[in-house]
Amino acid sequence: MKGDLRAIDVKDKKVLVRVDFNVPLSKDYKVTDDTRIRGALPTLLYLVDQGAKVIVMSHLGRPLKKLLPDGTVDRDQFSLRHIVADFSKLIGQPIAFVDDTIGDEVSKNINTLQSGDILLLENTRFYPGEEKGDPQLANQLASLGEVYVNDAFGAAHRAHASTTLVADHFDESHKAFGFLMQKELDNAKKIQTNPARPFIAILGGAKVSDKILLIEALLEKADKIIIGGGMAYTFLKAQGGNVGNSMVEEDKLSLAIELMNKATSINKQIVLPTDSIAADKFAPDATYRNVSSDAIPDGWMGLDIGLEARIDYTRQLEGAGTVLWNGPMGVFEMEAFAHGTKAVAQAVAQATKNGAFSLIGGGDSAAAIEQSGLADQVSFISTGGGAMLELLEGKTLPGVTAILK
Ligand code: AMP
Repeated sequence: MKGDLRAIDVKDKKVLVRVDFNVPLSKDYKVTDDTRIRGALPTLLYLVDQGAKVIVMSHLGRPLKKLLPDGTVDRDQFSLRHIVADFSKLIGQPIAFVDDTIGDEVSKNINTLQSGDILLLENTRFYPGEEKGDPQLANQLASLGEVYVNDAFGAAHRAHASTTLVADHFDESHKAFGFLMQKELDNAKKIQTNPARPFIAILGGAKVSDKILLIEALLEKADKIIIGGGMAYTFLKAQGGNVGNSMVEEDKLSLAIELMNKATSINKQIVLPTDSIAADKFAPDATYRNVSSDAIPDGWMGLDIGLEARIDYTRQLEGAGTVLWNGPMGVFEMEAFAHGTKAVAQAVAQATKNGAFSLIGGGDSAAAIEQSGLADQVSFISTGGGAMLELLEGKTLPGVTAILK
C-alpha cells in the first residue's frame, strides 16, 4: 500500500520527518500545550526503535509575518530550540538541535547521527521558500534524507516546500505517511465513505462564509445539519427573523436561503436553534436572557444557543450513527455563553456511548471537548482544524497527494 511507513526499511537510514510542532509558547518561551508534540511521538518512537537516524523538521508560528525592524526574521522568538526540553522529556531521550534548516552546519550534524538518534532542525519558515513552495528549497531539504515521512497533518493542506514539494524527490518506496497523518486520513474516510446512518453534522463558529463549502459537501453526505454559533443568525435573518445586533453576514443572506432550499429539495434538514441566549453587549459581564431566536430585541445579540435548542440538539444526536462536530455553539470563551457548547459536547459523548462514530473537527470544538473532560468519550479528535475541514469539503490535500504519487 502506498504511503505505508511499516513497508519501508528504515534501519540505519537518514529519515527526514516533517512534523507539526507548531505549539503555543508563553511569553518566556515555555510550551503551554504539548498536544502536537505528543501527537508525533508514535511515528518518532517507531523510527527510533527501528534504528533510523531521525531528522525532524517543523514550522513554528509565522515568522515572516512578524519581521524585526531591520527586516530579518526573529530567530529568537520563533526558534524551535524553545521546545527541545519538552520534546526530549516526552520522547525519553536527548534531542540534538541545529540552528539552521539546510546547509553545511545541518549536514555536519546529520553526519554525526547514530542509528536511533534524533536531530531537530530549525524552523522551516525562516526560509521564505517554505511557504512559497520553492522547488530549490525542497531540493535542499530532500538532500538531507534517504526516506521522507510526513506526519504533519495540520499542515497537509499547504503546498509548502517541506510538506509537499520535498516529497517529489522520493520514490514510492522511500516516502510514507506518519502514523498520526494515517490515523487522521483513516478517520476522515469513515465520514466520507459509507458513514453509519443517520449521519448528523453539527456546525458552529463565527461565520457562514468559512463553512459554505463544508455545508455544500455535507448536504450531499449527511442526513441532517444542525447549526449553532454566530453563523446561525445569518440563516435566521434570511428566514425573516429579527436577530437584533447578532452577528450576520448581510452578503450571505441569499446564499443561506439557497442552502436551505437545496436541503428541502433533496429531503435533508438544516436545523436552526429555536431559542438563544441574547446579551446586551459582547462582554463577559453582559446582561443576558433566553429569547426566541427569531425575536431577539433590538440592540441585543445572540451569543449562545438557548435552553430549548440544547435539549433539541441533544435529542437529535441521540440516535446518530455518525456525528461530525465542527465549531462552537456560542462565544464559549466567555463562561456565560459556553453552556450551549458544553451541552453539545455532552450530547456528542452520549451519542458515542450509544454507538455512534464521532469525529471532532479540530480547533475550538476540540478545545471545548477537552475543557469538558470528554476527550476520551468521543471517537476521534482531529489535530488539524483547517486540514480536516478541507478534507471533509472533498478537497485533496497537497501534502497527501505528494506522498501517494
Ligand atoms: P470559527 O473559527 O469559525 O470556528 O469560530 C469560532 C469563534 O466563533 C469563537 O471565537 C466564538 O467566540 C465565535 N462565536 C460563536 N458563536 C458566536 C456568536 N453567536 N456571536 C459571535 N461570535 C460567536
